[in-house]
Amino acid sequence: MNILVLNSGSSSIKYQLLEMPSTTLLAAGQVERIGEVESRLTHRRRNAEDKMEVHVHMAHIRNHRAGLVAITELLDDTMQLTAIGHRVVHAGEAFSAPIRIDAQVIEILRGVSELAPLHNPANLAGIEVCLELFQDIQQVAVFDTAFHQGMPAHAYRYALPNSLYSKHGVRRYGFHGTSHSYVARQAALHLQKPLETLNLISLHLGNGASAAAIHGGRCIDTSMGMTPMEGLMMGTRCGDIDPAVAFYLQRVTGQSSADIESLYNHNSGLKGICGENDMREVLRMADADDNAAQLAIDIYCYRIKKYIGAYLAALGRIDGIIFTAGIGENAPRVRQLSCHGLEALGIVIDETRNVRAQGDVCEIQSSNANIKLLVVRTNEELEIARQTVECIEC
Ligand code: AMP
Repeated sequence: MNILVLNSGSSSIKYQLLEMPSTTLLAAGQVERIGEVESRLTHRRRNAEDKMEVHVHMAHIRNHRAGLVAITELLDDTMQLTAIGHRVVHAGEAFSAPIRIDAQVIEILRGVSELAPLHNPANLAGIEVCLELFQDIQQVAVFDTAFHQGMPAHAYRYALPNSLYSKHGVRRYGFHGTSHSYVARQAALHLQKPLETLNLISLHLGNGASAAAIHGGRCIDTSMGMTPMEGLMMGTRCGDIDPAVAFYLQRVTGQSSADIESLYNHNSGLKGICGENDMREVLRMADADDNAAQLAIDIYCYRIKKYIGAYLAALGRIDGIIFTAGIGENAPRVRQLSCHGLEALGIVIDETRNVRAQGDVCEIQSSNANIKLLVVRTNEELEIARQTVECIEC
């Protein structure tokens, strides 16, 4: 069966067409700069020689509807869709598993949009157009927050008055759930042990970054909170910070809360410390003796190390630590610095294996270490396709 996976952002739509259960990628691509004068549609499709051909189309794509129509035309002769899986960032507490989309689900998602004002409205726009364009195709929403819904209250509640939780939903939700869930399953397959028997720390280190403590396949804590701002240092987000810094800045600089929100989200993290948010560039700058870049890497890795320590305590014992996403999969120096000094806890990296790591799953711990260190290539689209199939089959 063919599953179309859609990720609708505010000005872009990313898609993959996957044949399941073989997981063969039939087509993939993205529409960028929706609403601008010149939008760009990059489409890759598997040809008769089993190679991926790339086509780039420039056009004025004025909205999500036009973008999805253009994608549909390109997919036309390959598709015969069974279902569409939509990535949805935030489900609040409404859904802890993928759900078939109907009018009631849309209404509920609209109700939680305030929790993710930058993401959920764009996700919903994509869903609504697809419901209109593909009336006979089953459509499923797969949520970034769902994997974390099993966290215990002591992990998800903030130490704030109860009414803020009960009236306004102020609590920790967590994100990147699709990725954490996928890499945990991949790790278990690789280790040839049932996921239910494993305790894992998953480190999703991309432009956004989060850690998850996974006990027997269930998330018991994660570093992102009510929004993706909490937790690890990221490309442009500050991560954990004393909440009073915002009040202080408002007092001494006269900045508004919107200014400070933008500062925390878009001008902090690696970018705030050294002016650059792409880790490849930050590493290059540090190699050229740029002190700010070195400091950015040091803060980044120190904070990962602190979360490893915290989640080791939360889990009691761990079988493995997973590094994934753009930085986790590709930056040996970040992995090395994040594990440095943890040898007494059984976390010992092998330098040669670390530098050579490649493939879908790769072990990088030294031979005498009892905690596995795994570099796992994440694939959120495949996980969304898999969860979509599970949802329509149950
Ligand atoms: P993602 O959000 O998963 O696409 O990850 C984006 C981040 O991965 C960016 O900070 C990139 O600089 C980083 N990244 C990608 N490739 C590499 C690499 N070879 N070395 C270091 N960082 C990388």
